[in-house]
Amino acid sequence: MRELKELIRENIYNLKPYSSARDEYKGKNASVFLDANENPFNTLYNRYPDPLQTEVKSTLSKIKGVDADKIFLGNGSDEAIDLIFRVFCTPAIDNVVAIEPTYGMYRVCADINNVEYRMVELDKEFQPDVERVLNSCDNNTKAIFLCSPNNPTGNLLERERILQIVDRFSGIVVVDEAYIDFAPTSSLVEVLDRYPNLILLQTLSKAWGMAAIRMGIAFASEAIISFMNRVKYPYNINILTQQAAIERLHNISAMKIELNSILEERTSLEKELSQLPLCQKIFPSHSNFILIRVKNATNVYQYLMDNGTIVRNRSHITLCNDCLRITIGTPTENMQLIKLLKEYRYE
Ligand SMILES: *Cc1c(COP(=O)(O)O)cnc(C)c1O
Repeated sequence: MRELKELIRENIYNLKPYSSARDEYKGKNASVFLDANENPFNTLYNRYPDPLQTEVKSTLSKIKGVDADKIFLGNGSDEAIDLIFRVFCTPAIDNVVAIEPTYGMYRVCADINNVEYRMVELDKEFQPDVERVLNSCDNNTKAIFLCSPNNPTGNLLERERILQIVDRFSGIVVVDEAYIDFAPTSSLVEVLDRYPNLILLQTLSKAWGMAAIRMGIAFASEAIISFMNRVKYPYNINILTQQAAIERLHNISAMKIELNSILEERTSLEKELSQLPLCQKIFPSHSNFILIRVKNATNVYQYLMDNGTIVRNRSHITLCNDCLRITIGTPTENMQLIKLLKEYRYE
């Protein structure tokens, strides 16, 4: 890995970050707070929230086995993705490399930040070719974006391929693990300490069932996390979100019950789909959605929509022609989908 000083944008490396009232006062024994120009009358919400979300992080730290100072929390994973661009990539000069197809936000954030976005197509098994990924990099490539399990393909990238890329690339490798809870293999957090150039992304939006509160997670070296913290808005996670996250994270068993139902439903949905003449291919899924190839995907998509059932039409995406992405729903929702698909008649 190159020195962090070489990878981080110079203006960010030299940034003197905003110091909030709550940053300066840290845990001393105080009961009178006249430092932040807040309304003193207690409305539950009159005080600024903890800018570093200490309690959420210590809860997550125990669940994930990662030190709290190696955790960044953002307004969704989207904030973490955007910050990676803003911390590492100088607009109009640097570039990033990503697999294709993958999650659309990497490209949008690259475009917003005026950073060149280079795509390397996955192979037929939706796996990255390590040599092609590395050969697409040059001295201005600051980060490689991988997503495992990948969206919209649904599959895990092979761990050896990911680790080869992390090992051989001298810049940052981002592995988005938004769907890792649905996968049969464990997260790369267990090897985080071995790779100072690795950033892992997770989220409360999928398995944890908290998409509405907007909380994304990045795991990385303490040094990388400290730069992300300097660039983020001082109070990026509001108190309602912090409270709701803590409550949910303390109830792992509730999450596990839902997770198991989704996994069982995934298996039965795969079986049902495979029996439909309409369905030409079911791609292996390690996530909470299934990518299928059908004849005339756009017609099928429209038919389902006309019947009040929305799936994701991915038929215009690289390697996904005539593909629909179907999220695993409740048993009732999945039954409704299968019923509709059984009744589908080709025009
Ligand atoms: C859904 C998803 C996320 C989650 O984004 P949030 O902003 O945390 O809701 C992240 N990455 C991928 C690949 C996803 O599909």
